Amino acid sequence: MKLRGQTAIVTGASRGIGRAIALELASHGANVVVNYRSNREQAEAVVRQILDEGGLAYAQAADVSKREEVRAMVAEVQANWPGSLAIVVNNAGIAADRTFRKMDPDQWRNVIDVNLNGAYNVIAEALPLLTARTGGCIVNVSSVIAQTGGFGQANYAASKAALLGLTKSLALELARDKITVNAVCPGFIDTDMVRGMPPEVLEKVVSKVPMKRLGQPEEVARLVRFLVTEGGYITGQQFNINGGLYV
Ligand code: NAP
Repeated sequence: MKLRGQTAIVTGASRGIGRAIALELASHGANVVVNYRSNREQAEAVVRQILDEGGLAYAQAADVSKREEVRAMVAEVQANWPGSLAIVVNNAGIAADRTFRKMDPDQWRNVIDVNLNGAYNVIAEALPLLTARTGGCIVNVSSVIAQTGGFGQANYAASKAALLGLTKSLALELARDKITVNAVCPGFIDTDMVRGMPPEVLEKVVSKVPMKRLGQPEEVARLVRFLVTEGGYITGQQFNINGGLYV
């Protein structure tokens, strides 16, 4: 229960990797804000599971690409659990794959707006609260695609690679405030995002993974939790969790 008394905002926590991170941090004592964009029912189900297991959580709708909604979310955290915001996990993300030549400007902008500007908005609004207490932890969920690129994924790869630059720069700036900033780079993880692929494409993807399976959201969640609970001297780093897909 190392995280007792500390509040974590986990963006995009209604499903997939974010859900697993919310459950994992709550099981180590954190108060968790289960952020989501539109899927209230699933976010409430995550909250119920945390409460049933004796933890503390509530669901909070906010589109991370909209600064005013993020501001309201952070104000709510301070009202509910004053002075305790210590952990921010920028997990919310979308993909809108298309080859660059066919990609329309909205497909480019939407992905950058959620994946990159969303993280910027959350960090910018949360920073005054994080720096007001001693120590904190920011984890940005990037992707193996930031490192390898992806066919039809110029928008997604650009957004996720930019998160790595943001991570390293912020780590340098926030070290004096005892705030660590790290990124995780998952490979292919068993969530809606990946399950949306046609089965034959998914099969091909898995066959390229040296470990011959998808990762589980809980495996990513345990890595994030390690960074949060044990990573006091780890900052500015990117952690690959990809079954050997990129070494
Ligand atoms: P997912 O199953 O599609 O879930 C996406 C989550 O993000 C949902 O909770 C969704 O909320 C939320 N979300 C989407 N847009 C949002 C917005 N504008 N504001 C707030 N929340 C928003 O995704 P996932 O596979 O778990 O991926 C989670 C993160 O890991 C993403 O950043 C993704 O890029 C990254 N990642 C995933 C994989 C993978 O293989 N799955 C690999 C590498 C990296 P609603 O439920 O309300 O829509």
